[in-house]
Amino acid sequence: MSFDFITKKLIQQQTQHRYRQRICVAEQNGREVTIAGKTYLNFSSNDYLGLNKHKKINQAMQEGIDRFGLCASASSLVTGFHYAHQSLEEHICLWLNKPRCILYSSGFAANLGVLQALGQENSNFWLDKLSHASLLDGALATKATVKRFLHNDVEQLAQWLNKNHFDKNQTKQNVSDNLIITEGVFSMDGDRAKVAQLSEIAKENDAWLYVDDAHSIGVIGEKGQGSLSSADPDIVMATAGKAIATSGAFVACNEQLFEYLVNFSRHYIYSTAMSPALAWATKASLVLIEKEQWRRDKIKELSALLASKLNDEIQLIPTESSIHAIIIGEESKTLAVCEKLKNKGIWLTAIRPPTVARNQSRLRVTICASHNNKDISYLAQCLNEVLN
Ligand SMILES: *Cc1c(COP(=O)(O)O)cnc(C)c1O
Repeated sequence: MSFDFITKKLIQQQTQHRYRQRICVAEQNGREVTIAGKTYLNFSSNDYLGLNKHKKINQAMQEGIDRFGLCASASSLVTGFHYAHQSLEEHICLWLNKPRCILYSSGFAANLGVLQALGQENSNFWLDKLSHASLLDGALATKATVKRFLHNDVEQLAQWLNKNHFDKNQTKQNVSDNLIITEGVFSMDGDRAKVAQLSEIAKENDAWLYVDDAHSIGVIGEKGQGSLSSADPDIVMATAGKAIATSGAFVACNEQLFEYLVNFSRHYIYSTAMSPALAWATKASLVLIEKEQWRRDKIKELSALLASKLNDEIQLIPTESSIHAIIIGEESKTLAVCEKLKNKGIWLTAIRPPTVARNQSRLRVTICASHNNKDISYLAQCLNEVLN
């Protein structure tokens, strides 16, 4: 029968304890979440800066709806590119000090849209092993040769690129186009890529560096500029669905690549433009992000508090971001820990294979600017009890 694999795959998923189901959130702010009539302290939100539901962003959304409409009513190359989009793009360029910026309707679409446009027959894509699914899918959907270097192993990458360069010289093949791809802050462990070093390696090898700043934008840097606060990657993608607390995504790049994407990026060309009201709201969020350094300071402060309150035996991966991973090991134990925490009113996510290697299951704690000292102390107390 056609599509027999659907039943098979679902059963397999269940027997491997990997069956996924959605839970319906009745209400949420960055700090708390209400599910099935019960309110939990939420440590699995991506609202890192606590900006969701911010009055100024909501007001801008309403104003955007009134002025430009909720719907763009067309793709960007037809009549979907509104003043709200232009204004947001210009704002981002000034903020990040990049010549151009282009908006996509999601980070996933942006990664696919850019990588598909860049991947040609003689392209080489060099991805960090822990790169997000959308980066991998985008890279694999092209004719480019895809290679994945060990997580954050800049030496391996440098060697590979060097060898590649050497081989090409020997055989006098056409020069290849090399793109190094990484996340700025990695989504599962919250550790940072060595962006400055990667940038250097890229320059030495006549390659470009592409950084997915989904978890860095807003959180890292004096004004929340993410990886661009400490290095100058050629291309930066960031979603607005995390710290920015709206939705959609942008890609910041040079003039020439911008023009190329407008002409050749299929996800951009054949998709309805981002809601102009959302673009307007996103701009309002960026104004807050640049100004309100206290939100970034708060994340640092609360993160340090968590580290200081946890028992010494607990393995907390140190980071500069909102994301804090606690390695537990066995999958079943990790799930049991999550369940116990839930009973104590704490909601956080268990990260299990295939997302991480076997026996490397972990808790992913995200600390937001909306949490307070009491929340963190309670979390630490519960973790100390449960992981005893
Ligand atoms: C969330 C995420 C994306 C996707 O962004 P959306 O706007 O949610 O589609 C891409 N890359 C990384 C690293 C992410 O964490």
